[in-house]
Amino acid sequence: MHDSGRPPDWLDTAAVAVLRDLQGADPITALAVVAWRPAFGLNGLHLGITEEPGPLPQLEDDLDPDDPTASGGGNWVPRTLAGPALLVLVADILRESLAETEVGWAQSRPPCPHHPHPARPVVRDGEAWWICGRDDEPLYRIGQDEVPTRPGPPRSWTTPKRSRRAEKRSHGRRRHG
Ligand SMILES: [Zn+2]
Repeated sequence: MHDSGRPPDWLDTAAVAVLRDLQGADPITALAVVAWRPAFGLNGLHLGITEEPGPLPQLEDDLDPDDPTASGGGNWVPRTLAGPALLVLVADILRESLAETEVGWAQSRPPCPHHPHPARPVVRDGEAWWICGRDDEPLYRIGQDEVPTRPGPPRSWTTPKRSRRAEKRSHGRRRHG
């Protein structure tokens, strides 16, 4: 029995999808998701991103999805989670973990197209979304390959997002030039 390795399938599917979102338009090579068993027999796994791990064994799926469990702390995923809630927790953990690696240090992944901050994972209307935390605007669905994989124009070229009021003012008016 391994103590750490690639997540078992129930967790790996979400982790791989989230890692793709975090890689986005500027992929970092030699990143892998690693899971490890909690010390106290909790029904879940710790999760993180590691640099240049080499080949990892896959952890056995020996946990029970119907067995409620206590919280295991920050980077810990209970086996009972599934669907959007699982995606959002995995996104939150891996985003934090990547930002703490040497290669991903302080980068905005995935990027908010309007601001320098990274997008934030939330469950919205039953779906897992990356949102802009400042405008509370849904940006990309998590794990659906909606995060742009091609670099956009430099931020200084992008038109600043117009406010609702500016939108109203220009409503119905012809655009010149
Ligand atoms: Zn934003």
